Amino acid sequence: MTKSLFRQSFLKDTLETETEFTAKSLSTPDGVKMELSYRGVLEVTPKHLDKDSKHIIISCGIHGDETAPMELVSKMVEDIESGFLKLNARCLFIIAHPEATNRFTRFIDENLNRLFGNKPHSVNREVAIAKHLRALVDKFYQGTDESCRWHLDLHCAIRESKHYFFCCESSFKTRGKK
Ligand SMILES: [Zn+2]
Repeated sequence: MTKSLFRQSFLKDTLETETEFTAKSLSTPDGVKMELSYRGVLEVTPKHLDKDSKHIIISCGIHGDETAPMELVSKMVEDIESGFLKLNARCLFIIAHPEATNRFTRFIDENLNRLFGNKPHSVNREVAIAKHLRALVDKFYQGTDESCRWHLDLHCAIRESKHYFFCCESSFKTRGKK
């Protein structure tokens, strides 16, 4: 068996906050490059990319207690690593707030999901995370065409929902027809 990038899984390793984080990378037998640069931050690049390739950010855990998307993301990562899931887009997977997840709480000081605007905030845990994530997102999209950029930020409903599954599009701009 090929060596894995993870001791247990992307999710379990991310949540092991007692263990010191070390950046690591590997290439799968399919030529997919997997780079774990920070705790909970994994970039995967397929062997072939062209100008039409998509650059997709899949984030979860912005609210620490919304665990279902984290399991989903971890499973996707496992399937990419094993070669079961064939990758044709460059992706950045983010499990955003392991400390809150470990405490079974949505956030510690402030709701992280409210910190991605341009309003100034006093410094706290979530403000620092938001700053870090914004820098990562900017770096990931650097040099890519805007029409090829996607960001799927996965959440769970905390109250009973009329729809089992729904999607809210960012109000900042409208996505192209593709
Ligand atoms: Zn949420």
